[in-house]
Amino acid sequence: MADDSIAVVDLDRCSPDRCSYECSNFCPPNRTGKECITLRGEDAEQGGPDQVRISEEICLGETCGICVEKCPFDAIEIINLPSELDEEPTHRYGENAFSLYGLPVPESGSVTGILGPNGIGKTTAVRALAGEMVPNLGNYGDEPTWEAVLDRFRGTELQNYVEQVRDGEVSIARKPQYVDQIPKQFDGSARDLLEATDERGALDSYIDRLDIGPVVDNDIETLSGGELQRVALAATLARDRDFYFLDEISPYLDIGQRVTAARLIRELAEEEDRAVLVVEHDLAILDLLADTLHVAYGEPGAYGVITDPKSVRNGINEYLKGYLSNENMRIRPEAITFEEHAPRETTKAEPLVEYPELAKSYGDGEFSLDVEAGTIYNGEVLGIVGPNGIGKSTLAQLFTGDLTPDMGELDFALDISYKPQYIEIDQPMRVDAFLSSITDQFGSSYWNTEIANPLQLNRIMERNLTDLSGGERQRVAIAACLSQDADLYLLDEPSAHLDVEQRVQATSAIRRYAENHDATVMVIDHDIYMMDLLADRLMVFDGEPSIEGHASKPQEMRDGMNDFLSDLDITFRRDERTQRPRINKPDSQLDREQKRAGEYYYA
Ligand code: SF4
Repeated sequence: MADDSIAVVDLDRCSPDRCSYECSNFCPPNRTGKECITLRGEDAEQGGPDQVRISEEICLGETCGICVEKCPFDAIEIINLPSELDEEPTHRYGENAFSLYGLPVPESGSVTGILGPNGIGKTTAVRALAGEMVPNLGNYGDEPTWEAVLDRFRGTELQNYVEQVRDGEVSIARKPQYVDQIPKQFDGSARDLLEATDERGALDSYIDRLDIGPVVDNDIETLSGGELQRVALAATLARDRDFYFLDEISPYLDIGQRVTAARLIRELAEEEDRAVLVVEHDLAILDLLADTLHVAYGEPGAYGVITDPKSVRNGINEYLKGYLSNENMRIRPEAITFEEHAPRETTKAEPLVEYPELAKSYGDGEFSLDVEAGTIYNGEVLGIVGPNGIGKSTLAQLFTGDLTPDMGELDFALDISYKPQYIEIDQPMRVDAFLSSITDQFGSSYWNTEIANPLQLNRIMERNLTDLSGGERQRVAIAACLSQDADLYLLDEPSAHLDVEQRVQATSAIRRYAENHDATVMVIDHDIYMMDLLADRLMVFDGEPSIEGHASKPQEMRDGMNDFLSDLDITFRRDERTQRPRINKPDSQLDREQKRAGEYYYA
């Protein structure tokens, strides 16, 4: 095999009891008597059918790929590593297993970001940086040592840090990615959890600034996703450690809460001189949060590369462009581009629906929502923004007919395809069976190009719906929503649980679908980049979360953004090179000028 190729066998998928070793039967070197695909021998010793190993020395590489085609379980990947990648792995889990290249560089007093998809080795990297494992530098047969690791990184920015890890001088605090798991690991109230972690005496300030007070004495089990996320953040930041690792801060939080979390993290790094490493998929928040950035790329599950540090601005710009300059590496065929100016007021198409003023209250009047009358036009993408607990999902349910308004009548006879915020897919059914039951386009080249490929469904088609992760479930639910014939598509938080690359792909799938089908789409989301790329007009919610909400009529983007951001007291400027929106520092000259001019977004 070419030196720059790897073979990866997914042992969770390789099921020789259900195939007849077609990979090895058809492998060209095997057919000429060479031992390219052989049996591992490990399972046979235990009486089971034996899984395969692939010799990377003999394999002909990606240009052959016959075994990849033949394997009925998608268990094999043969990958030509980019020729530009001239380094050796930092860690390889074993023969035909995942490899990680590079490591992020934590630095006291600063926030280091990692930008890239899930599944490319960030957990491995953090375990190494925390001293919980010694990276084997790709020599998985040998006992790894810190001296060898130090030799590898001598003379680089990581040398000092590796020396400290070797000497056992680095302590770590971690915020997990999946905060919904916390109630399974902890019994008691949020206060019990927080008091146990308050090593810096910072708890009261975090409870106040993250607005945890109203729920702090509640049982952890009863907290919502957004409340758990804020408790997990406070619990991590209140520790007294050298190195903090935060695996996503934005899930379940609205944009105001995300900005507050980002500011608290920056304060911890700057004022307490701590090293913070953050993985974050909301690019506007990552931009605000990090001082330096590592872009991560690769093939999830097969290999991951963490680049040398870049400035945050360059890192995000290069990522959006799809091309990493220093590395001379293309990571995506097309660039993601933003419009500098608000879309011009368009001559409106035909109205799809005109709805009257609406009101709805529930919980014995504890929460009430009022909605201004408005019109939704055929073929437009209407963005819906506002804080959590303000009634956005209630509006969606009024439209779908799942809730009935107390005032106003929605008597339109529209077919609505709805993706709710909380996806409950509990049928014990395979993904392919589920999606083919929704559309007879399933499997057509058109459906594959428009829906399955951008939403990366191919590798999960044979999985059961009940076994999917949050992000996989989200992608299936978006696909199911867009695959139906409908007059109106309503997607509630499509970015939730998606990594940055999946957001980029899902955004373009939704936008392309809307354009190609002249479809009318309503999207509720907190990711401002996703909204910027998707929406033609905006509906803005304000009010007091959990008490009362008010929904504006659909507005042009400029008015809608001003309405939304003035409420949050946040302004955005444009990056000169890519025109992407960037959050201004509070009270900076631009922030003050834009607020004075009333231009919060399209300055
Ligand atoms: Fe054999 Fe390699 Fe071809 Fe697979 S890609 S069939 S292992 S030569």
